[in-house]
Amino acid sequence: MKADFIVENISEMATAAGRSPLTGTHASDLRVIRDALIASHNGRIIYAGPRKAADVEVAHGVRRMDAGARAVIPGFVDSHTHLPFAGDRSNEFLMRMQGRSYQEIAAGGGGIVTTVRATREISEDELFAISQERLDRMLLYGTTTAEAKSGYGLDLESEMKQLRVLRRLAASHPVTVISTCMCAHDFPPEYRSSRDEYISIISDQILPAVRQAGLAEFFDIFVESGVYTRLQGEVLCRRAASLGFLLKVHADELSDTGGASLAAEVGAVSAEHLLFASEEGIKKMAAAGVVATLLPGVPLFLMMDRHAPARTMIESGVAVAVATDLNPGSSYTESMPLIIQLACFRMKMKIEEALVAATLNAAHGLRRAHEIGSLEPGKWMDALILNSRSFIDLVYHFGVNPINTVIKRGRIVVGNGYLKKDRK
Ligand SMILES: [Zn+2]
Repeated sequence: MKADFIVENISEMATAAGRSPLTGTHASDLRVIRDALIASHNGRIIYAGPRKAADVEVAHGVRRMDAGARAVIPGFVDSHTHLPFAGDRSNEFLMRMQGRSYQEIAAGGGGIVTTVRATREISEDELFAISQERLDRMLLYGTTTAEAKSGYGLDLESEMKQLRVLRRLAASHPVTVISTCMCAHDFPPEYRSSRDEYISIISDQILPAVRQAGLAEFFDIFVESGVYTRLQGEVLCRRAASLGFLLKVHADELSDTGGASLAAEVGAVSAEHLLFASEEGIKKMAAAGVVATLLPGVPLFLMMDRHAPARTMIESGVAVAVATDLNPGSSYTESMPLIIQLACFRMKMKIEEALVAATLNAAHGLRRAHEIGSLEPGKWMDALILNSRSFIDLVYHFGVNPINTVIKRGRIVVGNGYLKKDRK
């Protein structure tokens, strides 16, 4: 096959390999190839390896990209975001800076409900515009595929509005957007004292309508004390699965409510957060192949001393992914490089493990490891050229944007740190 796009003069290419997640002693299996070359055709990689060994036919009019003797890695997969939200919670942030806890603020009528109010009020076009800006920022920081959740509507029409915005973004933005219906993010204010009624609305109205409109691939639920109980989580997960949704569970974020084992029992693709996951829960996740999506931006932003037990998980054979959890209340960032840095600095992951967690393992958490997450023939040409010669600088040179160029399906969408204006 002839290449129509070639990236050459690559100081080192650092990538995982394969179509399944890397776990245990293999969790840091990164291939680092010096003086590499990558070639693609119609957006798919046809060669990725040493330049000297490259046997690539070159099509007429091939586009050649000089990486400038810098490092190349796969595009980041941000597998957990709450992208389509309206409003801002800087007031609550200031209260937290003065020592009030996230739970105290929620109990006082703030928290998720504040964002629900703003998201219900905003028009679909406005929600699209602000979400698009965030997605642009994600792209500038190297994210080429993003999961995004509803969950700030908490009624049929507002949940559908958020999901329609995601469908429009998926069709118009270079970043691949994968949608999750998280109508069980919290209980809406109008059903605080009649929770079972809202659970029936989810079961009988929201999930069937979302499924019928083809608006979401995943269902996600916040199992936590004061939010959904473990039993409610189980009932709703089983209902969603029966309708054809793949499952995710926000589990053991602020306390151990048995969320990790619930995720294993209901066959969830991934469990999220897991700061308080029990050893038993971790063992069950390993046995069931549930991806642990760790979100180290949250304990940083909530100023907690705790972090998810990434090392225990890796040693137990759990596939670990990392993501931003972009949201206005507990992790307001679009930056995957920051998350990789926190994975190393706070959760003691190796740089290789953190990069695998942000690419191949995250892709598996979205059931996309067969087509993204590593640089190898057959997969999409989603690649990042860094500003430095080595991928080590992703963490070593922290707090800056390390991304020079973003390539999405063989197209340059960020060059020299700037977005290319023409949208697809
Ligand atoms: Zn979340």
